[in-house]
Amino acid sequence: MTTVLVTGGGGLVGKAVQEVIAQSPPANEAWVFATSKDADLTNYESAKALFQRHKPTHVLHLAARVGGLFSNMKYKVEFWRDNISMQENIFRLCKEFEVAKLVSCLSTCVFPDKTTYPIDETMIHNGPPHNSNLGYAYAKRMVDVVNHLHNEQYGCMYTSVVPTNIFGKHDNFSIDDGHVIPGLIHKCYNAMNSGQPFVVWGSGKPLRQFIFSKDLAALMIWVVRHYQEVDPIILSVDEASEVTIEQVARSICAAMGFQGELVLDSSKADGQLKKTASNAKLRRYLPDFQFTPFDEAVKETVEWFKANYATVRK
Ligand code: NDP
Repeated sequence: MTTVLVTGGGGLVGKAVQEVIAQSPPANEAWVFATSKDADLTNYESAKALFQRHKPTHVLHLAARVGGLFSNMKYKVEFWRDNISMQENIFRLCKEFEVAKLVSCLSTCVFPDKTTYPIDETMIHNGPPHNSNLGYAYAKRMVDVVNHLHNEQYGCMYTSVVPTNIFGKHDNFSIDDGHVIPGLIHKCYNAMNSGQPFVVWGSGKPLRQFIFSKDLAALMIWVVRHYQEVDPIILSVDEASEVTIEQVARSICAAMGFQGELVLDSSKADGQLKKTASNAKLRRYLPDFQFTPFDEAVKETVEWFKANYATVRK
């Protein structure tokens, strides 16, 4: 019997994995979704008790200190420390409990700031990341380093995935600390209710590849079951599906039914202008995978946000 322990099980990606697994429950796999209420993964003893309780054969490590551009700029030390502590405890416990496979998460924002595009899996360590997220990026890069150390020394099957920007239900919709799509959905909602303009921070020009959490969940489940390389794999929509922040804002307006004024505030930081990632490796494995169309995914997310406004993270 396979037991997959999913850390960060109550977060954006964790909830999506739960939803996809619930749609077609596997006969020979138990999936356990742990939240921070079940264990504080920065604390070794607390994390160990979780492993003792479930005796996982596989671990999908999603828990992390995660935040948007402005939160990353403000709390670099905490982003480094919390993520490194969680990762180190997970590595230690996977080894102690002889876990057969560990899948952890990197992010495209951990790649070098000065690079050529599209970025691919071989380029992670080729130069310093963007200064805005140094703490998070260096902590996440260590996942790949330590995966290889375990493989070389002990033959462990520890690997990582590299999602691009994720969005969907159960996201953190905080305007100050959240990522761009949930933050903009919340702002647009406020603008609609107050009759004020919808103000988008930055020029609207940066390009991003966004992946819907449900699509990512399906891909992560595939990685847990079938991907057998220590080297990371980028989980992203195709390069042709890149959109500007202004397009994102307009898609949100349409989904929300907002007909007021949209203002782009160029006095605020833009972050990296683009971070186009290649999904060629993923496409070699899964050439026919169908991603949910962007506007459809935004609509589903906006409708969920409106229906659950009272209880969403914000
Ligand atoms: P969320 O913030 O939605 O979920 C992360 C979860 O981690 C939270 O549910 C939180 O639990 C849990 N967590 C945080 N600290 C601790 C702790 N000390 N002990 C136990 N659990 C903890 O993030 P996402 O679902 O968006 O991210 C999942 C993974 O994907 C992360 O590794 C992230 O780095 C990566 N990623 C995310 C991207 C994105 O755009 N969101 C982009 C690329 C990569 P609780 O809520 O109970 O506090």
